Amino acid sequence: LSPIRHHNFCAGPAALPTAVLERARDELLDYHGLGLSVMEMSHRAAEYVAIAEKAESDLRELLAIPANYKVLFTQGGATQQFAAVPFNLLGAGGRANFVTTGIWSNKALAEADHLFGDSRVAASSEANGHVAVPRPRDIVLSDDAAYLHYTANETIGGLEFDYIPDARRPDGSDVPLVCDLSSSILSGPLDVSKFGVIYAGAQKNIGPAGLVVVIVRDDLLDRARDDMPSLFSYQALSDAGSMINTPATYSWYLAGLVFEWLKDDIGGLGAMDIINQRKADKLYAAIDASDFYSNPIAPLNRSRMNVPFVLADSRLDKRFLAESEAAGLLNLKGHRSVGGMRASLYNAVPEAAVNALVDFMADFEQRNG
Ligand code: PLP
Repeated sequence: LSPIRHHNFCAGPAALPTAVLERARDELLDYHGLGLSVMEMSHRAAEYVAIAEKAESDLRELLAIPANYKVLFTQGGATQQFAAVPFNLLGAGGRANFVTTGIWSNKALAEADHLFGDSRVAASSEANGHVAVPRPRDIVLSDDAAYLHYTANETIGGLEFDYIPDARRPDGSDVPLVCDLSSSILSGPLDVSKFGVIYAGAQKNIGPAGLVVVIVRDDLLDRARDDMPSLFSYQALSDAGSMINTPATYSWYLAGLVFEWLKDDIGGLGAMDIINQRKADKLYAAIDASDFYSNPIAPLNRSRMNVPFVLADSRLDKRFLAESEAAGLLNLKGHRSVGGMRASLYNAVPEAAVNALVDFMADFEQRNG
């Protein structure tokens, strides 16, 4: 740990790897002897196009993205994709189907509903209070389903799918599976071929805010509605190499540095997966070993990236947060809608941070339990 950098458990914008920030600092004023910053380059300059293309090819390599998928680097946050997905996939009619498992999947449904109405809940964990995701047999699509959308990891609830759902109508025909992977992309290997569309806001495991990565199977590019804003169009973005207009150039560059860090420093997503599992196991074990702390999520669906927990006595919350911050453990306050604590353990959060948190929790319990 650098003496000036504390352990940051923020849910997003989240910690970035120190090595990435150091490299960005070194390249900040004068990128490779060009006498200017990446931030000040034209997005059409050969040097910038090389940066952008390298980022895409490293992401393709990390996730083993098949050749028949387009990778788009766009903007507007994951929230814009709540609208862009139905615009891009409902052109041939049919209904958007959703698995709802918490706040983010419900927001995605609400936006599709607001735009085009008639969205269907194919399955929901609402009845169990979003502590366990629906099992595969409980997901029932409408006969006229155009696609099935789900949120792989609910960042606020701390609920993560333990499987990739089947997107099949009752008659057995396949529809595209659409996944909001904002808070778990790149946390481990993924079989991209199971998906029609994947999207992820960058500000957790990819890079800084302002960038969204969309991975779309190329046969889906002709399903768009005609009344779509052109900046939302996957076809138009793909045709223009994600440069219909000025892209988020610096965020894209930093994302590229994160991809290089994952490949070269970590050793790829298989290695990242093992580290993430160890980090999450350690924190959940500490929570489970004590009556002082608790997490409500079914063990099979506990998020590896976002670990919400509460203190048995919520009157101690303020003290816990003040003392943890003083100990260099930042951003442990739970989401304003649920309260309590939340530790986000994204890729850039090192194991040492989890060790420090677990030690702090044990010490705090000792003094206050
Ligand atoms: N989806 C998930 C799973 C999220 O965690 C978030 C933000 O935290 C969003 C969507 C919204 O992302 P944005 O703020 O980039 O629109």
